[in-house]
Parts: sequence; structure tokens; C-alpha cells
Amino acid sequence: MLLLPAAADAQAGRTPQRNGTAAKAGHVRARRAAMEKLASRDPARLATTLAERYWGTVPCGGQVSVQADQPLAAGMDATTDGWVTFESSLGPNNLQAPASSYTQCAISLARWQWPTQAEQAGDWNMFCLTVVHEMGHLLGHQHSLTPGSVMAPVFTDEASVPPICREARLPVEASAGLTGGR
Ligand SMILES: [Zn+2]
Repeated sequence: MLLLPAAADAQAGRTPQRNGTAAKAGHVRARRAAMEKLASRDPARLATTLAERYWGTVPCGGQVSVQADQPLAAGMDATTDGWVTFESSLGPNNLQAPASSYTQCAISLARWQWPTQAEQAGDWNMFCLTVVHEMGHLLGHQHSLTPGSVMAPVFTDEASVPPICREARLPVEASAGLTGGR
């Protein structure tokens, strides 16, 4: 996966807030507080939770380790920002094998791209999208050329960022101390 253009990312930050009823606002506040709590512990943990919610299921029998701050392995393209490793019925890391045969699943997130939790939070939409994308691979989803798909091989479209990631952006930034008004 490659990065979104910086301009597209900046534009997403200006998305206007929607107004809701008082009840809805309370619900949103509670969710936001819960997300801040999770994010303050570990943005990768929150992204994993949101990715599971996005897909509505958990790959590899729920045994997925998510490792941030990983060095690229030898032979990897220098632009790789996330990847999966697993055993399958067709051998290690074979995406042609049925996902039901995947075991020892791991999602790795590149150190060069997101070396610290602050950088994970600061680049949240892309970070979250990457975790959703990689979890998609562990569920057997191949790359898709459909515009806006989370399984696009290269992200050039802000529309690929799932709403579930966008909604968490402000709480994540707040928990990382990246926004004012505390
Ligand atoms: Zn991919």
C-alpha cells in the first residue's frame, strides 16, 4: 500500500461535524470516551478492534497478533507500510490458500511509516485503514480495483477510509495530545 496524498488527508480533517439529538450526543460522547481510553493505551489496539467491527468477524480463530513498529523484511518493497504473515494449507503467507486454513496470523505495521504511537495517532486514518486492509487479507479478501475499496492495493482515494476509522480520528488525536482544548 502507498500513502494518500497529503492534500487529501488534510481535507478529511475539515469534514464538518454532524448535529444530533441530545440522546445521540450522549451516546457519541460515551463512545468517544471509550475510544479515547483505548487509543491512549495503544492506537494499534483500537485499530484492531475497529477492524474486527468493520468486517464483523475475526480471522484465524481470533488468534491474530498485531505488531506495530516492525522493520521491513529483506526483499520487501520500500513503500510497504503493512503486511500479514501466516501459515496456510498451501504454505507460509500464501494468499491463494483458503483463509479458513490460516493459523499463526500476524499483522505487521512498518516502523519507517509509524515509528511511534504519536505518529500512529497523527496519521490515524491511514493507520486504521491499513489495519482494516491487512485484516481483510487474513479473512481471505484479495486486492480490489473497485474505487473506494479498503482492499485497494494502493490507496489514492480518501474514500477508502472506512467511516468507523474516521469517527475515531478526533478521539485518537485528543488522546495523543495532538489537539488543543484539554
Ligand atoms: Zn494488500
